[in-house]
Amino acid sequence: MKSDDFFYDNETKYFVLQPQDKQQRNKKENYLKSVGFYKEQDKKRKLSGRFNAEHIKDSLANALQVVFEVTENCNLDCTSCGYGELYSGKNSKREKKNLPLVYAINFLDFINKFLNQNLNRSLNKRIAISFYGGEPLLNIEFIKSIVDYVNKIKNENFDPRFAMTTNALLLRKHIAFLAENNFRILVSLDGNKNNNSYRMYPNGKEAFDEIIENIDFVYQNYPEFFRKSVDFNSVIHNKNSVSEAFNFILDRYKKNTKLSELNTSGINEDKKHEFWEKYKNINEDLDQSEDYRFIRDKLSLETPIVGQVSKFIHTYTNNVYQKYIDFFEAPNNTTYLPTGTCIPFSRKIFITTKGKILPCERISDEFSTMGYISESTVAIDYDRITSYMNSIYDKLWDTYCKQCFYADKCMQCIFNLDLNKDKLVCHGYKHESKSTQIIFNYLNALNKERKFYKRLLKEVFYV
Ligand code: SF4
Ligand code: SF4
Repeated sequence: MKSDDFFYDNETKYFVLQPQDKQQRNKKENYLKSVGFYKEQDKKRKLSGRFNAEHIKDSLANALQVVFEVTENCNLDCTSCGYGELYSGKNSKREKKNLPLVYAINFLDFINKFLNQNLNRSLNKRIAISFYGGEPLLNIEFIKSIVDYVNKIKNENFDPRFAMTTNALLLRKHIAFLAENNFRILVSLDGNKNNNSYRMYPNGKEAFDEIIENIDFVYQNYPEFFRKSVDFNSVIHNKNSVSEAFNFILDRYKKNTKLSELNTSGINEDKKHEFWEKYKNINEDLDQSEDYRFIRDKLSLETPIVGQVSKFIHTYTNNVYQKYIDFFEAPNNTTYLPTGTCIPFSRKIFITTKGKILPCERISDEFSTMGYISESTVAIDYDRITSYMNSIYDKLWDTYCKQCFYADKCMQCIFNLDLNKDKLVCHGYKHESKSTQIIFNYLNALNKERKFYKRLLKEVFYV
């Protein structure tokens, strides 16, 4: 096929064939159907699973990561920040508050009890204790106290690892402590000076020079720690490109940066125009890059489009089982929870500065707060959470999911829907008639990335 056979489909984020190739597309789809490639199941029965309190208790007993929002305070005021003026919602109302130490200690005692129950079936009993902000290093005394406390209470069912996301401005000052305690550090850096110009001090001055000075210090003085424990994350926007961010960090620090996009949920109504001017799609940008193959080979399975191919294989084909039990049960007997929402706390547990307990940091606390911590207690109302989530599933099922082509492959988190409104709207909804186009888009991506097919099947267990 020639490159001008394709056009970029903004909705599905893939390069897709021009309409004149529809016939060829149908032929391929019919062939795949004839060899039993697609799962054909009773969606209603399959997605009849509903939450119960045991799901949540099980997640707590097998917790993988606790993230403390150490402080709302930050030494930068970045234009693209998820808590900045581009976004609305309660999470964005920052009061420079610190998380009280007693709240964090209460929660650690609470989770320690769960980890020591028989429900804990995790193989290595590891749990990441992560620090997030604002800029977490502005509240280093809190972090030091938590590290001390965790080291005191750790046990055979609670094997902690420490991690942090930072803008690097205070890295030089605190690196001795972080290295001594084997922290894993994720530095936010969008590329070279020009690429990084959204990262500014509150007075509007760009922070790039000081950020780089700090990272260089660690690179030169803690080379082994840097090699093993420092990673980068670059947000791609209209001031950089995948190629610029990737090559700057590779040349300077010999590291492959992780790539992320501006968060598209919770955008402030008044700032929508400004937001979409800044927004850049990673796949589109990478596809247009001259060094696509070079970057793809370096990122390997972490290339965003390879991740999508992996999801395709996991969800559309008959080659992947979601649970071990699926090997033993007749495939048509297993039921699943609807939508793409994770079981609360199965991926992480996020504790806000106000002591709210959330399933992750990417969603607003307005409808997703699942519990509260106070000076004396940790309270999670399992029944309220499960009946609330199940009621959303039921509402969505009637209006959208039962006709949605994505229903059994859905990746939509309910907490990213506008739960404020009486009538729920799911922008991820896909009518069946779109199915051929969507599947064909995935097949195009798979065709393009076929060298990863075997590795994806062998190495990727969950995306
Ligand atoms: S965005 Fe939704 S599905 Fe994803 S981790 Fe957060 S709560 Fe879970
Ligand atoms: S994309 Fe939306 S409508 Fe479709 S199954 Fe998921 S939640 Fe339901």
